[in-house]
Amino acid sequence: MAYKLGDVILSRETIARRVKEIADEIAKDYDRDKPLVIVGILTGAAFFLTDLVREMPEDLDVRVDFMSVASYGDGTESSGVVRIFHDLKSSIEGKNVIVVEDIVDSGLTLAHLTELLKGRNPASLKVCVLLDKYERRKTEVKVDYCGFRIPDKFVVGYGLDYASKWRHLKDIKYVVEE
Ligand code: 5GP
Repeated sequence: MAYKLGDVILSRETIARRVKEIADEIAKDYDRDKPLVIVGILTGAAFFLTDLVREMPEDLDVRVDFMSVASYGDGTESSGVVRIFHDLKSSIEGKNVIVVEDIVDSGLTLAHLTELLKGRNPASLKVCVLLDKYERRKTEVKVDYCGFRIPDKFVVGYGLDYASKWRHLKDIKYVVEE
């Protein structure tokens, strides 16, 4: 089956406004004298992360690191068993950490990933997602900062892909059958 781009669900302006609000919220929640490690999950979250950290104040001690993971599954459903392709460059022990993900769906990937990171003894660990498909949740994941709650429909753009395509779109759009 062939797919094409559908309607815009979130425009670039709406995304930018919400990203700024989340950055302000995070800036309020953290001490200035402790490093705050922002962990981006490649590849999708890189787009959101780079906009998010650039909205953070200069006096916040922001560090950026990335991880690349894949969850095993049957192609459409993730199993939640996470395989690390690329690990963090620096230790998170004793540091405040926020994991940044593009979208939480079943929650299995983030649940597994946060357990793994907790094992590395960060001072604190929070989760920030741009999109939350809350209807699809299969396991409880505490989302501390959320951009938008969206319905159970496949979306692309602003980092999110369909078969490696459409990550570069500035707006987030639905994908529809041709
Ligand atoms: P889960 O929470 O089910 O373990 O998996 C989340 C992952 O599923 C996301 O990182 C993303 O790769 C993928 N995903 C879920 N819903 C969508 C969607 O609507 N669009 C795109 N592009 N990816 C999605």
